[in-house]
Amino acid sequence: MKVPLLDLKRQYYSIKDRIDQAIKDVLEKTQFILGPQVKKFEENVAKYCGAKYAVGVASGTDALLLSLRACGVKPGDEVIIPSFTFFATAGVVSRLGALPVFIDMDLMTYNMLPDQIEEKITEKTKAIMPVHLFGQCADMDPILEIAKKHNLKVVEDAAQVIGAKYKGKKAGTMGDLGCFSFFPSKNLGGAGDGGMVITDNEDLAELLRKLRIHGATQKYFYSMVGYNSRLDTIQAAILDVKLKYLDEWSEKRRKKAEIYGRAFKGTDIVTPKEDDFNYHIYHQYTIAVKNRDRLREYLIQNQIGCAIYYPLPLHLQECYKGLGYKKGDLPNSEKRSEEVISLPVFPELTQEEQEFVVQTIKGFFANK
Ligand SMILES: *Cc1c(COP(=O)(O)O)cnc(C)c1O
Repeated sequence: MKVPLLDLKRQYYSIKDRIDQAIKDVLEKTQFILGPQVKKFEENVAKYCGAKYAVGVASGTDALLLSLRACGVKPGDEVIIPSFTFFATAGVVSRLGALPVFIDMDLMTYNMLPDQIEEKITEKTKAIMPVHLFGQCADMDPILEIAKKHNLKVVEDAAQVIGAKYKGKKAGTMGDLGCFSFFPSKNLGGAGDGGMVITDNEDLAELLRKLRIHGATQKYFYSMVGYNSRLDTIQAAILDVKLKYLDEWSEKRRKKAEIYGRAFKGTDIVTPKEDDFNYHIYHQYTIAVKNRDRLREYLIQNQIGCAIYYPLPLHLQECYKGLGYKKGDLPNSEKRSEEVISLPVFPELTQEEQEFVVQTIKGFFANK
C-alpha cells in the first residue's frame, strides 16, 4: 500500500463543484486585484477567529513581515523567537535589518519556553514572536505578561494553526497581531500562496492595508515605502469555500492523532503532548524516536509518506553563523531536530492507510 503524507487531490474532489464555481465567478467578474472575494474572505476569517479586522496578504511570510513593520521593527532592533520553527519566522526579522534572538522549546509540545524569554530582553528588544508549532498554541499567558511588563509587541506566527484554541481563545487573537499562511499544505490551504493578518487594533489594521499597497494613502500618493503584497482574489475565493469545512477537517485530524496516540502508547515512541488548555489541530503529527533516520528510510521503502520538520534549528543555520550561536546553546531544539519525523494525518487519510502506517512503524521497532 502507498500512503501519501498529504493528498490534496482527495480534498479537491470532495468539494470540486464549489471550488470550480468560485474560480469561475472571479474570472467572470475580472476584478482580480483585491476583488470583492478578498473582502468577503477577510470578513469571514475575522468572524471565524473572533477578531475585529483581517487583512489579506500575499503569503504567510509577508503576513509576518508586514506585521513586524507595522509594529515598528527597524534595523538594529531585536525580536525574540523560537529556534525550532520554519525559516520564515526568522527570515522576516532579518529582512527588516533586525536581529532574531533565539530561545529553546519544550521537548513535549515543541513550543517556545516562556521562562527563557525574560533573560533575553535588552533595550533593543521590540517584539516577541511566538510560533504555534504543528497545530498547537504556545503557552500565551506568560508570554503576554512578559510582553506587557516590558512594553513589547506580540506577533503570533499562527501559520500552522488556524482554528486552534488556547484556553478557549482562537489562535492569532491573543497578541497584537496574528499571522496565517494559506500555503497549499497548511490546514486551510489555497491553490498557491496566500496569507492574512488579524488584529483588534484599528490603527494596525489600517497600517497593514497601506503597507500591502506600497504604502499608499491614496493612489499614487505614498506616506511610506511599503510592499506589493495582496491576497490574490482567486485564492480568496477558493479559501472562502474551504473555510466552511475547516472545523470538520480539524476534528478528523484530531481523531487520527488520537488513534496514533493509542497505538504508540507504551512504546519508545514519543508522541506529541496536547496541553490541557489547548485545542490542537494537528497540522503535523510529529513523533520523536531514537533511530529517526533509519525509520525514515524504512518508511520510504514501504511507500509511506513522511517528512522531517525540522532537521536543523535556526540558530545553527549557516546564514546565522554571524550571530554567534554554537551547538549546545539550545539543547532541546537540537535534540529533537535529530529525532522528529512527521506522519500522515490529513483529514482524508483512510482507516486502512493509518493502520498500515501504525503496523509498519511497530514492525520497524520490533525488528531493530
Ligand atoms: C508556512 C509557515 C510560514 C510561512 O508561510 P508561507 O505562506 O509559506 O509564506 C511561516 N511560519 C511558519 C511556522 C510556517 O509553518
